[in-house]
Amino acid sequence: MALVVRPSRIHAAGVFTTAPIRKGARVVEYSGPRLTAEEANRLYDGAPRTYLYGLEDGKTVIDGEGMGAYLNHSCNPNCEIDEIKNRVWIFALRDIAPGEELLWDYNLYDDEDPAPCCCGSPKCRGTMYSREWMAKMRRKARKKAEKIAAEREVTRTQGEKVKKTKTLDKGAVTSIPKRSVA
Ligand SMILES: [Zn+2]
Repeated sequence: MALVVRPSRIHAAGVFTTAPIRKGARVVEYSGPRLTAEEANRLYDGAPRTYLYGLEDGKTVIDGEGMGAYLNHSCNPNCEIDEIKNRVWIFALRDIAPGEELLWDYNLYDDEDPAPCCCGSPKCRGTMYSREWMAKMRRKARKKAEKIAAEREVTRTQGEKVKKTKTLDKGAVTSIPKRSVA
């Protein structure tokens, strides 16, 4: 494949093809050292940008390097990524003309830091996270809001109880001087 890394209008640098690519063609491997998910977390916790790709086994992560890792994300991509026999490849989703930037949908997951998308596609969903992950995050946010509301309710109820106790105390305190006066 005749691929080049060039400045991209989407993000910093991207991968472009200088020759036509046929739909379904295997474009480039997403290669790099393999880490366990724990190793990847240790290495990249808090890093603003990583090139990690999680394999289907749910345990192994490719720390992408080289051409395959340089492709940018788009919500309306011309490539897709697929794991075949424990290796990860990028395939053309449609015929791609020379000069086009190669893009695939990252469908990010497993993180909560914002990952805004600047792909500019009319179909842009505004984030590089997958729809499934965003739905999961929304459910999590809703549960958290419900928990906070429930906790407020408890505090309010406790507040009322405290108030009542205070009223009782006041009554008790007022009655003592009365008695002492008498
Ligand atoms: Zn987008």
